[in-house]
Amino acid sequence: MKNFISQTNKVLKKKKKRWTTKGRQLEDKYLQEVHNLFSDIIIKREELIEYLHIIQDKFGVLYDKHLVALSTITNLPLAEIYEVATFYAHFNIIKNQNSFKPIKVVRVCESLTCELYGSKKILEELKKIENSDIQIHPGPCMGRCQNAPTVCVGKNYIDKATSSDVLNAIKNKKFETTIPNYVSYEEYKKNGGYRVSNRVNNGISNNEVINILNNSGLKGKGGAGFPTGKKWEIVSKFTGQKFIAINGDEGEPGTFKDRHYLESDPHRFLEGALIASKFLNAEKVYIYMRDEYPASIHILKKEILKLEKEKIIAKNYFIIRRGAGAYICGEESAMIESIEGKRGLPRHRPPYVAEKGLFNKPTLTNNIETIFWIRDIIEKGPDWFASQGLRGTKGFHSFSVSGRVNNPGVKLAPSGITVQELIDKYCGGMEEGHIFKAYLPGGASGGILPASLNNIPLDYGSKELADEGCFLGSAAIVILSNKDSMMEVGLNLLKFFEDESCGQCTPCRVGTEKTVKIMKEKLWNKEKLEDLSEVMSEASICGLGQAASNPLKSVMKYFGNELKYE
Ligand code: SF4
Repeated sequence: MKNFISQTNKVLKKKKKRWTTKGRQLEDKYLQEVHNLFSDIIIKREELIEYLHIIQDKFGVLYDKHLVALSTITNLPLAEIYEVATFYAHFNIIKNQNSFKPIKVVRVCESLTCELYGSKKILEELKKIENSDIQIHPGPCMGRCQNAPTVCVGKNYIDKATSSDVLNAIKNKKFETTIPNYVSYEEYKKNGGYRVSNRVNNGISNNEVINILNNSGLKGKGGAGFPTGKKWEIVSKFTGQKFIAINGDEGEPGTFKDRHYLESDPHRFLEGALIASKFLNAEKVYIYMRDEYPASIHILKKEILKLEKEKIIAKNYFIIRRGAGAYICGEESAMIESIEGKRGLPRHRPPYVAEKGLFNKPTLTNNIETIFWIRDIIEKGPDWFASQGLRGTKGFHSFSVSGRVNNPGVKLAPSGITVQELIDKYCGGMEEGHIFKAYLPGGASGGILPASLNNIPLDYGSKELADEGCFLGSAAIVILSNKDSMMEVGLNLLKFFEDESCGQCTPCRVGTEKTVKIMKEKLWNKEKLEDLSEVMSEASICGLGQAASNPLKSVMKYFGNELKYE
C-alpha cells in the first residue's frame, strides 16, 4: 500500500496542478452576458434551438464561451449543446476567441435556380471581401427562386442580387429583413375572416369537417400528397392530449409558395390552424418555420399577438418554433425532433407521428399551404375545390415556377395541368434566347424530365409521372433551357443532398458523398453510379436518401448524349 501511494504521489507531482474542473471553463463575464439574454425566460429543454438563436441574434455567431455559459444556465451537458448547435447549418460556432464583436454572415444561395442565374460568380467575388467582421458562406435554397440569384446579408434578403448590391447593403448596414404589405387582422376580419372557425364545433360538426375535406380531394401540399381528411380522421380517433405541428420548413429547392401565402394573407393560414385545433381539441399548435423566412416569422408573431388580444386564442396557444437551416426538418418526424429542441433526425416508424408524435402524443402534421386552404374549402364547399382539376384530377396546386421563363412566381393552376400549359398560359413563355429543354416537376427530389415529355399531367399520384420515375412533391417546377448543362444540373442537385444528409444512415451519408465525387469527374463511372443509386434508394431510412439519386437517374436516362463515361 505504501508503495502504491508513493508511486501515485510521484505521478501527481510530475503532472501540472489543475485547480479547475475538467472540460471547458465557465467565465463569469460570458455567463453574465448569456444570463442577461434569458433573465425573464423560464428555461425549458425543448427550447434549446431557440436559445441558440437568441444568442446568435445578439452576437451574430455562437462563441464557444457563450455555449459553456448556456450549458450552465440550462443545466444541459455541453456535449448536447454542441451536438444540436453543430447539426444546424445556420449556427456558426467560433472557438477560442477572447475579444468578441458582432459578426455579420452573408449567405449566397447556391440552389439550382440561383446557380443558373450566376450565384457561383457572386460567391467567388464576395469571398474576396471576407474579413473578421463579415463571413461569406454558400447557403441552400432561400425560397426566393423567382427572383434568383438571392443573397442574404444578415437577415436582409437581396433579390436579383449582384455583388455590388451586397457591398452596398454591408456599407449601409442594411442587415434587417423587409416586411412586405399583407392582409392584416383588421382587414381579414372585415371581409368575413374567422366566421368559419367560429362555426366549427358550433354548427359544423367534426363529421361534417371530415366529409367536406374528403369530398374536396385536398391532399397534403408539403410533398407527400396524403389525403387531408383521412389524416385528420386518423389523429382524431386517438384519445388524450393531442398536438398540431404545422410544417413551414419549406426547404425543397425551388419551392416558395408557403412563404408567398404567409407574407400576403397570413390570417387565412391562421384561421385554418384554428379550425384544425378546434376539430382536434388540440393542446397546442406548433408552427415550425424555417429560419430563412424572417419576414414570415415577424408577420406571424405580430398577428398571433392580435389574436391573443382579441381572445380568439389563448396566450401561447400558437407557438412559433424557428428551424435553423436543415432541409431534413421538412420530414415530419425530424421536424418533431427539432421542435423538441433536438437534432432533426428522422424517426424510425412505426409508431407514426399520428399516434406518437410531439412529446410522444398523437400529433396532426400538416403543411402551411394545406392549412391555408381549409377555411375556403369549408366555406365554399368541397365542390369548389374538387371541380378545379383537369384531366380527371381534383383541385389546384400552387406551382412555384422558376428558371428560364418570362414570368416566374407562384402560379395557382389546376392540378393535372402540363408543364407546357404552365409555361405558355401562366409564365409568359420562355425567356428570350432560351429554348425549352428540360424541367424539374417536383423540386430537387422529384426527378428531371426532357421537354419532349411536356404533356404529362402534373398531380400527386400521376401515373405518367411515376412511370418516368418522377413525382410532383411540393410542386416546385424549375424550367431549364438549351443553355443549361445537364451534368451541372445533376451535380448541383446531388451536392445539395450530400450537404443535407443528416448522416444517420450509411447508404445516404456515404452514398451521396461518393456520388458527388464521381459526378465531379469529367468522365463518370456508370457502373458505380448505378450501384450507389440503387443502394441509396433501397436502403436509406427516410425520403431524403431514397430520393437523392432521382436527378442522377433522370440525367442518365434522358440526357445520356451530354454525359461522358469512363
Ligand atoms: Fe438521414 Fe439520409 Fe438516412 Fe434520411 S436517409 S435518415 S437524411 S442519413
